Amino acid sequence: MDLGIEGKWALVCAASKGLGKGCAQALVREGANVVIVARGDDALKATAAELRALNPAVQVMTVTADITTPAGRAAALAVAPRIDILINNAGGPPPGDFRDWDREAWIKALDANMLTPIELIKATVDGMAERGFGRIVNITSGAVKAPIDILGLSNGARSGLTGFVAGLARQPKLASANVTINNLMPGAFDTDRLKATLAGVAQKSGKTVEQVTEARRALSPARRFGTAEEFGAFCAFMCSAHAGFLTGQNILLDGGAYPGTF
Ligand code: NAD
Repeated sequence: MDLGIEGKWALVCAASKGLGKGCAQALVREGANVVIVARGDDALKATAAELRALNPAVQVMTVTADITTPAGRAAALAVAPRIDILINNAGGPPPGDFRDWDREAWIKALDANMLTPIELIKATVDGMAERGFGRIVNITSGAVKAPIDILGLSNGARSGLTGFVAGLARQPKLASANVTINNLMPGAFDTDRLKATLAGVAQKSGKTVEQVTEARRALSPARRFGTAEEFGAFCAFMCSAHAGFLTGQNILLDGGAYPGTF
């Protein structure tokens, strides 16, 4: 299927590794030009080289910045001639007990996982509407649908984003102008983030990383973790010309781990 996004410009945040990288790869394969953002210059440059090799016909631009800062967002927005596709992503907040979190910890989580995506949407969405095409995908988490108790900062901040987006996506000014805003909720995907989380659980529980990993895999009826490639391919479809009637939705990719009918 031709996704119909050749020549579009995509801003993919937090894209040197993991799910963001998977999204950038899928968009580049479809002929979209990309601006990729991450904090670490080496990994970002290596990913850019991979993307250029995947499709030499597209432009790949890099911005080494922390997307959760105003300066990082300004830098990310400055390089492309326009943004047609926005993939909002950033590192997730740390796990812990809410009794240990002060206001500073909450503000940090809100900045990264709620306010940064909202700021980037604000900067791009009206231009998308004027041009009659826009796709915004926020990478959130399965924890929005089924909260994970040690990830309270994530549950809270991402739910705030989800509630906001539910209203914004339904503004006729956007929905009637072929601008869609959706959230893609990962379950367990095999990335550095998941490996670090599992290592942390192992350390706390006294089990081996292998035991903890196996137990986590067993939670999914698919009996495996998702791959960044699968995540990226799904995201690219949500950004496609064919997905214009999908807006304001939360799509869970978890191999069936969530046990509910809806
Ligand atoms: P990852 O650690 O594999 O990759 C994160 C990427 O984001 C890296 O490229 C890193 O450089 C970049 N990054 C992080 N913070 C940044 C910042 N402030 N500014 C710019 N770049 C930044 O993580 P991942 O597994 O791909 O996770 C992506 C998001 O999805 C995270 O918010 C994570 O919490 C969430 N998530 C992941 C899973 C999973 O199983 N992997 C499950 C649920 C939610």
